[in-house]
Amino acid sequence: TRKYSINNIRKYISGIDQHIKGVSYSKGNYTNFDNAASTPPLLPVVKKIENFSKYYSSIHRGVGLKSIISTEIFENARETTLNFVNANSKKNICIFVKNTTEAINKLSYRLNLSKDDIVLVSLMEHHSNDLPWRNKCRRMYIKLLENGRLDLDDLEYKLKYYKNKIKLVSVTGASNVTGYINDIHRIAKLSHQYNTKIFVDCAQLIPHRKVNMSGTGNDDHLDFIAFSAHKMYAPFGAGVLIGPKDIFNKGVPEYVGGGTIISVTENNEYWAQSPEKDEAGTPNVLGALALMESINILQEIGMEKVKKHENVLTEKLVSSLKTVDNIKLYTSINNINPNNHLGVITFNIKNIPHNLLASLLSFEGNIGVRSGCFCAHPYVHRLLNLSTNEVRKTQQKMLFGDIKDIPGLVRVSFGMYNTISEIDEFVNFLKLISKNIDSYKDQYIYNKGYN
Ligand code: PMP
Repeated sequence: TRKYSINNIRKYISGIDQHIKGVSYSKGNYTNFDNAASTPPLLPVVKKIENFSKYYSSIHRGVGLKSIISTEIFENARETTLNFVNANSKKNICIFVKNTTEAINKLSYRLNLSKDDIVLVSLMEHHSNDLPWRNKCRRMYIKLLENGRLDLDDLEYKLKYYKNKIKLVSVTGASNVTGYINDIHRIAKLSHQYNTKIFVDCAQLIPHRKVNMSGTGNDDHLDFIAFSAHKMYAPFGAGVLIGPKDIFNKGVPEYVGGGTIISVTENNEYWAQSPEKDEAGTPNVLGALALMESINILQEIGMEKVKKHENVLTEKLVSSLKTVDNIKLYTSINNINPNNHLGVITFNIKNIPHNLLASLLSFEGNIGVRSGCFCAHPYVHRLLNLSTNEVRKTQQKMLFGDIKDIPGLVRVSFGMYNTISEIDEFVNFLKLISKNIDSYKDQYIYNKGYN
């Protein structure tokens, strides 16, 4: 019998529908609309860690019973993770890292790139899928369309024009700014046609949609993916990089040390196979266990159910926001459907700074949203149509710690446990704040969010 479903999952989420003690907010219950940053943990996941803490022990090297059990758990977590994303586990390995950022950095080292190699990333990437590629190779941007979506014609043009120089196409599965879902299998097929591998940053996509690394078997598989446990209802500190075994078995990892070798003498070393070679030092066994439990719960609920529920929330939010005066949405809302859009909506209200609005929602409404540029500065600058000069001015302001009038947006991002009534309440607060904005302007601290 099933215990968890989309209809009862809210009661298994930590810190929801409870008054947060010590804070005298006008509204007691905290509304978390910042799930794109991190999701709150599932209580059964936390319980799992607590129960297992009695048994845990360092893995691989020990022969004690606890060490054997811990090793088995760690290896089971790899299998569960590979199955969850429908990866071919004969060909692919699951490397445990601390988060998506570490995974992408690892990949950028492990592809053995030279300065002439090209990696195509898109202009909608999170900094974590842009900065690691700079300076190791030629990082080139895939252009965007007017509405902020990927320009697939430009991708094809670049694949054709720079044929044989492009070592990787590296794109996000979904944007953490606009909520746009990319057509990753189409991009994969296109990339493979030009003999190029593809990495998909699944940090945003994985808690909301089924990810299928194998594709349809029509050369549209994903070669590498990465994601973080803290965005999928498990605690911070665990993430994965999944990709072909033969790629990781080559070369030397960026971190070396305990656990990465078979034999070391004073002058030489024989490397272990990956994933062990790519997990230097004592790994995060509890993190892997937590991720496995989270995956099991998500699977029990069903990703289709999650998708459907979150899409109802998204449609409701968009239609309610349309009734707010002076609002501008930074996503093309004409054709929102669950296959091309996540429950992530960004907006601004005219004449209310994004960072003031986010603070007011928190102080007045006890509603947690995020404001700023969401670790995607180039993308947000583009969505706001900033000129090169305006971008430069912003950079200067930031360097001097001047956070007034800096560019940014307000973001709402849903988790599977959010409700329609939370949206109603949120939109009411938004209208109230908007109406009374003149009385607030000097009273509140601006949220320092630019990042
Ligand atoms: N990529 C995307 C699309 C993200 O939204 C995030 C987190 N905001 C990351 C990468 C980085 O994830 P982490 O901080 O867990 O490394």
